[in-house]
Amino acid sequence: RAKDLGRNSHHYFNEDMGQQAGEHLRLRAGLRRALEHGELLLHYQPQFDLRSGALVGAEALLRWQHPEQGLIAPARFIPVAEESGLIAPIGAWVLEEVCRQGRAWLDAGLPPLQLAVNLSAVQFKRGDLEATVQQALARSGLPAHLLELELTESLLLHNTDAMLALVRRLKLMGVKLSIDDFGTGYSSLSYLKRFEVDKLKIDQSFVRDLLTDPDDAAIVRAIVQMAAGLGLRTLAEGVESAAVAERIAQFGCDEAQGYHYARPMTAPAFKEFLQRYAATAGLKGNGFARHP
Ligand code: C2E
Ligand code: MG
Ligand code: MG
Ligand code: MG
Repeated sequence: RAKDLGRNSHHYFNEDMGQQAGEHLRLRAGLRRALEHGELLLHYQPQFDLRSGALVGAEALLRWQHPEQGLIAPARFIPVAEESGLIAPIGAWVLEEVCRQGRAWLDAGLPPLQLAVNLSAVQFKRGDLEATVQQALARSGLPAHLLELELTESLLLHNTDAMLALVRRLKLMGVKLSIDDFGTGYSSLSYLKRFEVDKLKIDQSFVRDLLTDPDDAAIVRAIVQMAAGLGLRTLAEGVESAAVAERIAQFGCDEAQGYHYARPMTAPAFKEFLQRYAATAGLKGNGFARHP
């Protein structure tokens, strides 16, 4: 009986694996086509300064408009892109598109915003990231200080001389660096200093239950204090309520992003959001300072 069970579970296990491999192959082939046929697009989620209330930036988040499956979230296809090497051309497209879009918004008379791009560790370990960033900036004419590169904490563990040199050259170009999902990895304070990071994005898993979980509150407060001591800015991810926004502001956190303010939206919707925001701020007589 135990043998039967074992054989059965083995059987199901294999079938499951087969299905996963099939899905993986389909996604991989589809991704190649997606890149060539323009099925990839970016959504933008606004970021706010907690003291002034000003809209200060946006994070670009990749989506795949699949012809049959509809909109696919990055969690499903980024891992496939990383394993297949497609992340390099996809990542280059994201950088080009964000810089182009940022420049277009400036040209349309919208106020300057910092635009954040997620980078995969795989992109960082390949040789052409520096050239890709440089080219995206040069072609678009976006000022470098308006581009922010989001790195993952795991990347800081590979603190080889080559990696440090690459980061230094990126910083010399004038781009900003932030650490995404901060608190979930193992990076040490010395790494943060050595990599000349500008901002820590506190992972949403610590922010979500901040009001009810004293451990989460302690962690967020500790990160904010440590960052302040190191001269780094902090942004809380996944802020879903006014109460959480208030608490993190009390902790001294600098910026916030989350459903409480706005969900990620298409570029045209974001432009409308910006215009509406600018008009409201103007009516209140405090320039471009308050979010609606
Ligand atoms: P991330 O960089 O940490 O992005 C934040 C994620 O949280 C986004 O999910 C966003 O839609 C979601 N989010 C924002 N506010 C809230 C909130 O208040 N509550 C909750 N529950 N979620 C919120 P999304 O867009 O599905 O992206 C998932 C991850 O995919 C990103 O996490 C990032 O690691 C990766 N990713 C997205 N775009 C790119 C890209 O262009 N390149 C690479 N390499 N990775 C990307
Ligand atoms: Mg991010
Ligand atoms: Mg992330
Ligand atoms: Mg994050």
